[in-house]
Amino acid sequence: MMPLKPDQLIRDEIRALAAYHVPDASGYVKLDAMENPYPLPAELRDALGQIARDAAINRYPDAAATALKARLRTVMEVPEGMEILLGNGSDEIIQILAMAIAKPGATILGLEPSFVMYKMIAAFAGVSYVGVPLRANFTLDLDATLAAIAAHQPALIFIAYPNNPSGNLFDMSALLRILDAAPGLVVLDEAYHVFALESFMPLLTRYPNLLVMRTLSKLGLAGLRLGFLVGRPAWLNELDKLRLPYNINILTQQIAEQVLAHADILEQQAAAIRSERARLMQALADIAGIEVFPSAANFILLRVANADTVFEGLKQRGILIKNLSRAHPQLQNCLRVTVGTPDENQQFLASLNASL
Ligand SMILES: *Cc1c(COP(=O)(O)O)cnc(C)c1O
Repeated sequence: MMPLKPDQLIRDEIRALAAYHVPDASGYVKLDAMENPYPLPAELRDALGQIARDAAINRYPDAAATALKARLRTVMEVPEGMEILLGNGSDEIIQILAMAIAKPGATILGLEPSFVMYKMIAAFAGVSYVGVPLRANFTLDLDATLAAIAAHQPALIFIAYPNNPSGNLFDMSALLRILDAAPGLVVLDEAYHVFALESFMPLLTRYPNLLVMRTLSKLGLAGLRLGFLVGRPAWLNELDKLRLPYNINILTQQIAEQVLAHADILEQQAAAIRSERARLMQALADIAGIEVFPSAANFILLRVANADTVFEGLKQRGILIKNLSRAHPQLQNCLRVTVGTPDENQQFLASLNASL
């Protein structure tokens, strides 16, 4: 018997996907992935070295990650009575959520353009996905969103707050209307919380179907892969059954715990990024021929006359940003730049001027 070929065996919706592409950034000023550009102080890095030296890597990690969760609870001001679920990045939490609701006919709803993993992971889990377009200026279209909720009765709604790639915070009162109208779970993805300082965390006690998702990635620990979800135990106890037993490795648990014990350092770095964001935003606004979108995150979305030319010009000058021009029809000629160090931002601005 002839063994089956990939096109016979692999699900159609998986073969139709384009793999998430991560470009090789070696040698570039890397402003493409919303990373924190600042290293940790040498003293703290020495302490992390000790932790790595002494970690019992021959043993499985603490499956419940007790110490890390306790630290997150205080640092992230998790409301009393709420549970925490940890993921290998918040991407894994999105996957757990999608698997949990993947009944036949279930729908995940997202806003577009937004974080691409909501749609991709819906496909991974075999769940249908509905994208509601944002307005041309990337603000929320409340009427269209409420109409889509009524029509599709989504089991799960993902809202990035602030939104990626546009950078804006959606109107709070509109989001509360969505929370009131949603029949299923509403996940507020606060990956950029530390740059926005606005949160739905305090509203968890008021809305039974609200879940708040965060990550340490944009805060300065992207390499560790740690995301978390906060919500009522009734939901999180079910989701926890889908979590692979040792999804958070021992080094991530212990190093994240130690860094979060010095959360003031990350907070100072975030404050530096926020003030650089303001400076970069102003500098961009002063350049003719660029449209700059407001940002509450650590990146800025801009529109130029020809994104491909500008992107390539920057690349030739050693600067890597993200070209979103073909990511979504509403992102035509859009580029996204991560806020870097003052020196990196200066290099970016000079190269941008030369590339326009
Ligand atoms: C970067 C990002 C994430 C993914 O974070 P990880 O924890 O690194 O997986 C999730 N949501 C949004 C909106 C993001 O921009």
